[in-house]
Amino acid sequence: MRVRVAVNGFGTIGKRVADAVVRQPDMELVGVAKTRPSFEARRAVEKGYRLFLAGTGQRSEFEAAGLPVAGTLADLLRESDIVVDAAPEKVGAENRKLYAEERKPAIYQGGEKAGVAEASFNALGNYEACRGKKSLRVVSCNTTGIARAGAVLSAAYGIEQWEVTLVRRASDPAETKKGPINGILPTFHLPSHHGPDAQTIFPGLPITTTAVVVPTTLMHVHVNHVRLQRPPREGRELIERFRSTPRFHLFAPWERAEGTPQVMEFARDRGIGHNDMMENVLWEEGVRLEGQDAYFFQGIHQESIVVPENIDAIRAIFDLAPDAAHSIAMTDRALGLPAPRPGA
Ligand code: NAD
Repeated sequence: MRVRVAVNGFGTIGKRVADAVVRQPDMELVGVAKTRPSFEARRAVEKGYRLFLAGTGQRSEFEAAGLPVAGTLADLLRESDIVVDAAPEKVGAENRKLYAEERKPAIYQGGEKAGVAEASFNALGNYEACRGKKSLRVVSCNTTGIARAGAVLSAAYGIEQWEVTLVRRASDPAETKKGPINGILPTFHLPSHHGPDAQTIFPGLPITTTAVVVPTTLMHVHVNHVRLQRPPREGRELIERFRSTPRFHLFAPWERAEGTPQVMEFARDRGIGHNDMMENVLWEEGVRLEGQDAYFFQGIHQESIVVPENIDAIRAIFDLAPDAAHSIAMTDRALGLPAPRPGA
């Protein structure tokens, strides 16, 4: 079966998900819906993607720009088996009734409240529980990073208590209406919403999160302190555990990746996706074990980490893979993400 996929909202996340769908052997991109002509709409047409009118989009505006329009969002939905909503946060919830009218399963993004969908989703975290659902919400970039690490740590060692400080990028690189400003902004909502959001994947996870916003556009960084129930004998084991899990990338000390600028330079050199870093990024030097207490930093590329998760969410809804591991391997192979290298 090849699932016919619609993407509604063609911005930072939508354009990446559309490109990822095109690469999957069991999926087909029917088209993308946009509200306005833009360089992104032009790229969609240049790539051969059919453009449909989203929201209050006007056919005349697209035609004036020389961009052909194949129909409305309703037309796109009718031709598709599922829609991935990648509209701005809270607009996904407004779009829900349109998907219901056409009786189409839908995937929402992390900017929506958890109640928008039947379940929140993370491939390593809760793929099995999400099979056959009619709607899923791929959790936000930060929660995706937490959920992946949580899946590894809880399965291998058990988590007694986990504290995360999120150092958040001020805005995405293409953003012009907000930040980065010359300052460090504490998030006074305590604990931050990320912990409860991670609990939508792992109910009862003993996690607390706090956050600050800093003047950068290059990735978030999480500072983690986890008390493990059954810790490994040494920190090296922890490193190997992460390395042998898909969607984790570890930098060795000799690689001299001091921080996020080098990680993004590596991503540009590697050239996957939109020069993306879809994996959780760990620095070997930044992983430490002291008794039961594990410490590690992880870098999160906000613009791309959720992209493979959207693909696995589609597979979970249509039950296209025998299990999470098969779906993850299929997604990552198609995207060009390296397979895990145990013991490297
Ligand atoms: P974006 O602003 O880059 O893109 C959204 C696109 O949707 C824009 O092209 C916009 O014109 C279009 N749009 C506006 N109204 C629409 C409507 N009614 N119907 C369809 N499209 C409409 O936003 P984004 O960063 O891609 O975020 C999309 C979702 O993904 C949000 O829920 C966000 O919270 C989540 N998310 C964003 C990031 C990130 O860092 N950018 C990371 C993870 C999750």
